[in-house]
Amino acid sequence: MRRVRSFFGGIHPKDAKKSSSSTPIQHLSAPETLVVPLLQHAGLEAKPVVAKGDEVLKGQVIAEAHGAISAPVHSPVSGKVLAIEPRAHQSGHSITAIVIENDGNDAWVERNGHSDPIQLDAKTIIERISEAGVVGMGGAGFPTALKLVPPKGITLDYLIINGCECDPYSTSDARLLIEYPEDIILGAQLMAKASGARKIVIALAETASEAYAALKEKAGSIEIVTMPSKYPGGGEKQVIQCVTGREVPSGGMPHQVGALVQNVATAWTVARALRDGEPSISRVVTVTGGSVAQPQNLMVPMGASLEDLIQATGGFSQRPGKVVMGGAMMGGAQFDLQTPVIKTTTCVLAFSEAESRTPDATPCIKCARCVDVCPAQLLPLKLEAFGMNERFDDAREFGALDCIECGACDFICPAKRPLLQYIRFAKMEIIARDKKPS
Ligand code: SF4
Ligand code: SF4
Repeated sequence: MRRVRSFFGGIHPKDAKKSSSSTPIQHLSAPETLVVPLLQHAGLEAKPVVAKGDEVLKGQVIAEAHGAISAPVHSPVSGKVLAIEPRAHQSGHSITAIVIENDGNDAWVERNGHSDPIQLDAKTIIERISEAGVVGMGGAGFPTALKLVPPKGITLDYLIINGCECDPYSTSDARLLIEYPEDIILGAQLMAKASGARKIVIALAETASEAYAALKEKAGSIEIVTMPSKYPGGGEKQVIQCVTGREVPSGGMPHQVGALVQNVATAWTVARALRDGEPSISRVVTVTGGSVAQPQNLMVPMGASLEDLIQATGGFSQRPGKVVMGGAMMGGAQFDLQTPVIKTTTCVLAFSEAESRTPDATPCIKCARCVDVCPAQLLPLKLEAFGMNERFDDAREFGALDCIECGACDFICPAKRPLLQYIRFAKMEIIARDKKPS
């Protein structure tokens, strides 16, 4: 197994994976009611194709892709549509969702799986991935079928399956690798065939010895490499640089350096879609943190609520100070326990009040530690000031759009400056201005 070289910057947050890393995946029974958002992916909301009162089957399309970047949404259970209305969403916004009453029959729509899907041609594989609503399950949510088609004239040298899972709490990808290695390999092979990528590499964290043991016998010509245990080792640009030695240019895309990166859970979902005919209606979520009684990795249907997950792990062991969806470093705090799991929910963290305490920010002492850790080689202290003072042209000039929002600068700052908050604000303003017709 090759250990790849490190990347610039990064941090070493305390490893908090121990409480869930050796817990096998438990299957959560589908709850009585599921709230299935129309936005579970990057791009535009899907458009409902069912109405209140309709009966639906498990796996049935309930909303279809809408616009150039979008993905269809399928029913995670059989039952009845109770409502189509705005509900709490992982993003913090209120987003339209299809509310389904589970009839408990587990009655599936007809599935078109294939016993040996690698025999399918590239076009069919891409079509089936698109129809199954597969999106980047590592958090980005970009529709996978679109990512598999590089622009004309581009040949992909590498398909990298990203199993680094660098968030200090999340263990859902590690469990998938340990428990479903054949599925991950099949998903990788299917995506390599679809995209024309010449070589498949699976990148693991250097601590993932159990995952390596599970994969190595079955990997065949697939290379397995280990990444340094450093955050954000799972960042797309960082993985590409470490594995291939190639640097994605500022503002550029991975295909420009002949690489395509897909997450472990995405590979698993692709395998199930093509072999079993199961669309993207479930995923593994790590549920952990100081207020969780029994931290676990749960296989959950999309649309199950935070409360369903917390109950399944024994309820709160103590009053939580903060509940976060999507990881300790990049996730967002939630205000409603009815918020549902979506395709990009990697983990749910219920922090105790002590873990949630945020010290007050004090003036910058110009120590440059944020500069030293920034993997994008930016000047976070300057970008924060530009964001705060609404100097968006300056923020753009200093590379705000290259910020991968990893939060390493926030983490290291001794003055506890809200650096990422202002950098995100500047990025959003720059992007909004670019979209406005001139
Ligand atoms: S500026 Fe962006 S990329 Fe750099 S450390 Fe901060 S959040 Fe990460
Ligand atoms: S780490 Fe914090 S205190 Fe140090 S230079 Fe950056 S913003 Fe200023």
